[in-house]
Amino acid sequence: MLARKYFCWYALFYCFLFLTGCKSKSSVVKKGPAEQVIPVKIDTVIKTVIVHDTVPKLSMGEHKVWTLGKLGSHAGMRQETAIHYDIRKPNYVIIHHTAQNSLDQTIRTFQVEHTKVSSHYVIGRDGVIVQMLNDYVRGWHAGLSKWGTITDMNSISIGIELDNNGREAFPEAQIASLLVVLDTLKTNYGIPTANFIGHADIAPARKNDPSVFFPWKKLADRGFGIWYNPAELVTAPETFNPIDALKIIGYDTSNLKAAIIAFKRKFVINDVSPELTVYDKSILYNLYLKY
Ligand SMILES: [Zn+2]
Repeated sequence: MLARKYFCWYALFYCFLFLTGCKSKSSVVKKGPAEQVIPVKIDTVIKTVIVHDTVPKLSMGEHKVWTLGKLGSHAGMRQETAIHYDIRKPNYVIIHHTAQNSLDQTIRTFQVEHTKVSSHYVIGRDGVIVQMLNDYVRGWHAGLSKWGTITDMNSISIGIELDNNGREAFPEAQIASLLVVLDTLKTNYGIPTANFIGHADIAPARKNDPSVFFPWKKLADRGFGIWYNPAELVTAPETFNPIDALKIIGYDTSNLKAAIIAFKRKFVINDVSPELTVYDKSILYNLYLKY
């Protein structure tokens, strides 16, 4: 059964190669006296690497497929192939709650055509870890979002969905499994401690996941994300600018109230009003000093 499944995938892949190969004949870039044919098949690189448990391998020369766009018509354009390369690695992890009722429901959501959403991992309430995308491919979990100056979070991140309806605590077994996944990702890709963040951090005006029940401090204690030091809280100095601090941490402050609520939902928890109190500012100041 498995062999048949793989045969189908290979058959599909070679059909795809054949079809795109045919199409590429019309993609001609004129370069000096000799015409150079440059097939535009960037997708084929990705489609060869969708495997679930190994580091994708590109055979030499396979990356000689690229999209030129406007550059292709530049008179001085020339292409030479360097031989040293590998695949881009994820540098962020975005944590979500599913806002659904079961692991199976979420798996189905990521497998039907019309939803247009996915994540690399889904973790069940009982701690079951389901990998749904290779770490190296671009999942569709972040949506319209921004962190610092990054506006395409999907391109540089791994998405992890936790089976949780948003109104309940996260069971210990689920968090234990999450920590195993995070530890693996941090080790494999050298993801910086500060780059383990939530969906609400990068899309504060649209999203509230993971919910206030999510144990961010526990994660930070294990090296995934930044937490303030309660013993060092002091009143922020007069010169402290909380909006700048939110920006420095990464928040998009174009909707300031949304950014403040996202910050408070994560760090203050029991008060999520859209204003910063003296206490909230002391937390923000303490965090700001860590960046
Ligand atoms: Zn989300």
